[in-house]
Amino acid sequence: MFGLKPDWSLELPPRYFTFEDYEGGEGRWCPGCGDFAVLTAVQRICRDKQLAPEKVVCVSGIGCSSRFPHYMSTYGFHGLHGRAIPVACGVKARRPDLDVWVATGDGDCCSIGAGHWIHGIRYNMNITVMLFDNAIYGLTKKQTSPTSPQGMSTNTHPRGAVLPPLNPTQVTLGLTNASFVAQTIDWNPLHLHATLLAAHEHRGLSFVRILQRCPTYSDHVFEQLQSDPSMITMLEHDDGIPINPALHRVFENSLTHDPSDMKAARELADRTDTVPIGMFYYDPTRPKYDEYTAQGLDVNADEKVRAINEELERFAM
Ligand code: SF4
Repeated sequence: MFGLKPDWSLELPPRYFTFEDYEGGEGRWCPGCGDFAVLTAVQRICRDKQLAPEKVVCVSGIGCSSRFPHYMSTYGFHGLHGRAIPVACGVKARRPDLDVWVATGDGDCCSIGAGHWIHGIRYNMNITVMLFDNAIYGLTKKQTSPTSPQGMSTNTHPRGAVLPPLNPTQVTLGLTNASFVAQTIDWNPLHLHATLLAAHEHRGLSFVRILQRCPTYSDHVFEQLQSDPSMITMLEHDDGIPINPALHRVFENSLTHDPSDMKAARELADRTDTVPIGMFYYDPTRPKYDEYTAQGLDVNADEKVRAINEELERFAM
């Protein structure tokens, strides 16, 4: 209420949240869609960390993956095409106590939402951005997306996509104030979970590109990667994504990569002989805009009026 300090520290009775407490409506993605794996990973993280469902917000734009908030039994905002990140930043600015997850696709984030992507990374607010990259517009039935491989036949380019694809990991590494840039795959639950967990624990904007299967429209894009794990290289480092020893039985290739090394991160993002997964870049010291917007949130109306008058007095002198 006006004039009263907001109370975000309500005493709640101790509760134990089960996996089911985070389950929303029944997923309406196609059978075999990689989005299910990401949903399960996030629900597990919420359960394992005992995040109160009423303190979690999932924000999305438009696309198949943007149905994500409907399937979480938390607060959610299924918004406008490409606008997930600014909505999430707005939520975080006013309610820093909430856990904010963003679900966005390659069409949503890298095309119509590209401007917001750039500035979201720069603002580096404490949110987790999951880019579901299936290299196609799935919801609108197989149109070329910014990440569709050149030559891929789609309904908008039946004779093959004309332009070379945009590399979302490389682009994010090139953005001012990037603090957490990682890449994973939806078809390995261990690596997916470990990556999203590290992303959630990062204080700042964590950007995770998830190579996501779309068996309906772009199955062939990741087919080889799925059938031949030697085409994948795990990035390892103490400051990177923790690697469960079981992963070494799946992926024979691994590489030590210091995620503070931006030059090496960019070289890795450009590799075509193998697909690196793990932490590309990590810098927890980057400025965070939500630390700025949080100032004064607990100031009441009288204090605000007094502060404004003091500022006006300064200019009157
Ligand atoms: Fe998933 Fe593709 Fe179906 Fe969309 S069209 S729900 S991305 S499998």
